[in-house]
Amino acid sequence: MPPTPTTVQVCTSCGRLRPLGYFRATRRGAETRRGQCRLCHASYEKCRRLAGRAKALSHFQTTMRKETNAVRAVNLVGEMTRRFGGVQKFAELWHARLWGLCAQKPGSRAALSGLTAVIRLMQHCSEARPKRNLDDFTDEEIESEIQAIRETADALGVHR
Ligand SMILES: [Zn+2]
Repeated sequence: MPPTPTTVQVCTSCGRLRPLGYFRATRRGAETRRGQCRLCHASYEKCRRLAGRAKALSHFQTTMRKETNAVRAVNLVGEMTRRFGGVQKFAELWHARLWGLCAQKPGSRAALSGLTAVIRLMQHCSEARPKRNLDDFTDEEIESEIQAIRETADALGVHR
């Protein structure tokens, strides 16, 4: 009598008995299956991605905080927006991280480092803008500047 093929396997992570369909093949077309079920693998990958993001943001903040060169600062932001899939996404992630740090560990080295990085970046941005006399602005330009400041304040969660 031929041996009955195994249709279930125990996951090495969660210890649950699961149907074989829950386990990826070790290689395409291979008979052998991975030890970890798809659910455990997905949650492991998610943790790894989040840890990678946190590490990248932490490194970005540390570098930005100390960056004295505006071009390098801009390049650094460019790297982060590419990594995180756009300015909006990067800003959201950075904001969430900063907000978390300031709420959970106010006054900590990490929170202060993050805030210093924001100020440094703002400093580079304001220095990069052409200096103009207030008299040279049209009313529309002044309105637009005020609106931009309001939007920045809202994005940073500053209460007005
Ligand atoms: Zn599992």
